[in-house]
Amino acid sequence: MKYAENILETIGNTPLVKLNKVTKEVDALVLAKVETFNPGNSVKDRMAVKMIEDAEANGLLKPGGTIIEGTSGNTGMGLALVAIVKGYKLICVISDKQSKEKTDILRAVGAKVIVCPTDVEPTDPRSYYSVSKKLGEETPNSWYVNQYDNPSNSIAHYEQTGPEIWEQTDGKITHFVVGVGTGGTISGVGKYLKEKNPNIKIWGVDTYGSVFKKYHETGIFDENEIYSYSTEGIGEDILPKNVDFSLIDGFTKVTDKDAAVYTRKIALEEGIFVGNSAGSAIKGLLQLKEHFKPEDVVVVLFHDSGSRYVGKMFNDDWMRERGFLDEDITKAEDVIKDHIDKPLVIVRTEELVSHAIERMRKFKISQIPVVDINGFVGSIDETNLFQSYVTDKSIADKPIREIMGKPYPIVMATAAIEDVSKLFSKDNQAVLVDLGNHKFHIITKYDMIGSIK
Ligand code: PMP
Repeated sequence: MKYAENILETIGNTPLVKLNKVTKEVDALVLAKVETFNPGNSVKDRMAVKMIEDAEANGLLKPGGTIIEGTSGNTGMGLALVAIVKGYKLICVISDKQSKEKTDILRAVGAKVIVCPTDVEPTDPRSYYSVSKKLGEETPNSWYVNQYDNPSNSIAHYEQTGPEIWEQTDGKITHFVVGVGTGGTISGVGKYLKEKNPNIKIWGVDTYGSVFKKYHETGIFDENEIYSYSTEGIGEDILPKNVDFSLIDGFTKVTDKDAAVYTRKIALEEGIFVGNSAGSAIKGLLQLKEHFKPEDVVVVLFHDSGSRYVGKMFNDDWMRERGFLDEDITKAEDVIKDHIDKPLVIVRTEELVSHAIERMRKFKISQIPVVDINGFVGSIDETNLFQSYVTDKSIADKPIREIMGKPYPIVMATAAIEDVSKLFSKDNQAVLVDLGNHKFHIITKYDMIGSIK
């Protein structure tokens, strides 16, 4: 009989797969290390086991203890599998930027999940760095993992991922390209490969909104480089100890849009259903193609599974909202495609101004068409509302008729986008679209901006 003693024994020995289409413009052999084959569907299973075993050996984690980590999901999944097999409790602190699927999956494997806001400084007490640290200090018999600075993270890749890639390529690998988050993967694999052959080049893939590339090139930690981005798993606003910059030959940055588009391409063109950082890695590899020669063997690592991104990069509405879908926007109806099914919010001439304010708040909108029994007769927007309020504080109890502006112009659904855009001005904030059958929708300036690629 041939079986594993438990699920942890199935971690590692993932396949190396030749890419045939998505990298066809690259003149080299390109091979993908597909880490989805791990039981937790990501490369992180490897370091989760290593970090826990080292913590046990060092006496940091004791029987029945609680493991605490600030994780974007994949490390949490790996830790959860180990916690189940070894009988620990697990608390994961996750940022609200991460996909809902990741949170649900963590809960499915028994973790307690705490969600924190993304757009706060790492030192802010609400940040997931701070919350996880504090929990570590306050929970009895607990151990705070800290994958960013925990050396066992990169050691796992030095001991397993690196040697696997070396053996699978028969020592012929010339370049390794990989997304960088905690730095564990690039530093562990990079160290092993460079020890075997110092000529192997190690390339990190970074994202816009992250500090790595500039820091590597200039030694400057530039806070201006830090802003929110939608790419998941890579890039940081801190310098984790696990990123060994001396092993990395260079970084390339990939945009959110390219990362999302290439995540889809890998699935469609190779039949490999992997996550968002794989899209970044492939686009990064294409950006680096001038560095590769025909006889080179380039290995790229795919960290996790596409199933964690079905509500995001694999969802048309999510992509469209961000202008990531290369759809032709030529007609009025194209601009409002993703919310065309929602009812048009209106107010009536005799309703009170307070009703309009309430509707603006409720639906988070800045302008509303005004109707009476004859149809569209006016409009109300933040600017005229605000100006009227400053001159007359009792405005909230007056009928809308008294303060409304001109009605918005109406176009057919098939109107050319160039003609629609000409209707916007300082005095006109929106355009109504006649969808037929007495149905109308609204195009706002915000919708027009959203349609710009
Ligand atoms: N991709 C994904 C999806 C990840 O979860 C991570 C880990 N943050 C990375 C890439 C980066 O890997 P590492 O932390 O080893 O640098």
